[in-house]
Amino acid sequence: MDFALTEEQTAIFDMAHAFGQEHIAPHARSWEAEGTIPKEIWPQLAELGFGGLYVSEESGGSGLTRLDATLVFEALSMACPSVAAFLSIHNMCAKMIDAFGSDEMKARVLPDVLTMKTVLSYCLTEPGSGSDAAALKTRAERTNDGYTLNGTKAFISGGGYSDAYVCMVRTSDDGANGVSTVYVEDGTPGLSFGGLEDKMGWRSQPTAQVQFDDCRIPAENLVGEEGRGFRYAMMGLDGGRLNISACSLGAAQTALSATLDYMGERKAFGQSIDQFQGLQFRLADMEIQLQAARTFLRQAAWKLDQGAPDATKFCAMAKKFVTEAGSRVVDQCLQLHGGYGYLADYGIEKLVRDLRVHQILEGTNEIMRVIVARDMLKNR
Ligand SMILES: Cc1cc2nc3c(=O)[nH]c(=O)nc-3n(C[C@H](O)[C@H](O)[C@H](O)COP(=O)(O)OP(=O)(O)OC[C@H]3O[C@@H](n4cnc5c(N)ncnc54)[C@H](O)[C@@H]3O)c2cc1C
Repeated sequence: MDFALTEEQTAIFDMAHAFGQEHIAPHARSWEAEGTIPKEIWPQLAELGFGGLYVSEESGGSGLTRLDATLVFEALSMACPSVAAFLSIHNMCAKMIDAFGSDEMKARVLPDVLTMKTVLSYCLTEPGSGSDAAALKTRAERTNDGYTLNGTKAFISGGGYSDAYVCMVRTSDDGANGVSTVYVEDGTPGLSFGGLEDKMGWRSQPTAQVQFDDCRIPAENLVGEEGRGFRYAMMGLDGGRLNISACSLGAAQTALSATLDYMGERKAFGQSIDQFQGLQFRLADMEIQLQAARTFLRQAAWKLDQGAPDATKFCAMAKKFVTEAGSRVVDQCLQLHGGYGYLADYGIEKLVRDLRVHQILEGTNEIMRVIVARDMLKNR
């Protein structure tokens, strides 16, 4: 067993970190205020191979492992978790197309996806179905030359901003087996968007409803086989859960490093506040939580890379553990900054807001426990 990163993995982390610090961190607050991420950033990230991190090399992707990808998200989220998480969603969709799309679809779609000329959104949630995703109602009726879509997707990251939407839709009434995945390009007649949601965090990312009104797509835009879309969506989520955990980890690490510095400078009762043993213990506790989270996350990623039978359970466990550890740590870091932690200039309050949603999306942390408990009961 070797816990060390390879030289190549260290280089991947360093490259992502350097890019984030130079091109993302200085703008993170203004992008948040503007409520959008300038589209020019995506092709720059794609030049580093981040437009198809774990898309196979045969398809033109970077062919990285899921463990490698977590390093990219950990490093980028040190600059801004909202931007890093948006890139995760694009990559989740890109991998679904690579893994399940036809050769024709891959040849047609992937080149622009990999350069991020085409930015992708993932559309599973609906106003009436979130955790119970298989209850989705958006219909895709078969026509002579394709499908006609009707329905609404809710909470879509990149809704009205992305160039194409990977959508889970109902092609029959057979529960989860009646769900298919389709690819819908921006500009398709019948595709429209709700107003921008006003949110607590992830404010640089546009979030909106995606609406289909007799939206007609060609048959070639079916991803993979009819009736298998729910499985595709869930497979995408295993890796998505690792990425979102990595985003919590990187952001929390940044907050902890800033707090360590701040505590050396801030004085109270005649000494710097890092001299109070009660506060030193809190620093130590945060370090322990983040190191444990990192080790657990990388083990789960390794399991997914190995195709281990318990990979889904480990991804779920890691997602719950790491996102909660990340939120606890940034909240404590805010506390240790005193009143200054509450001010936007110190950069901590944004992280508290950004990380909160990581406990809700990609499956809530309650659903993560449902997955773990089901597995335990099945295997006892
Ligand atoms: C900012 C943001 C961005 C998002 N981006 C996307 C996106 O790009 N694409 C996408 O498809 N979706 C996206 N989502 C949606 C997100 O995945 C859902 O909000 C999430 O899955 C929860 O669904 P829900 O909101 O309908 O909550 P519900 O499913 O209604 O859950 C409500 C509460 O009940 C709990 N609960 C539900 N079922 C159970 C159960 N069986 N056992 C125990 N507890 C249970 C939940 O954990 C939660 O606490 C986004 C959400 C947000 C907030």
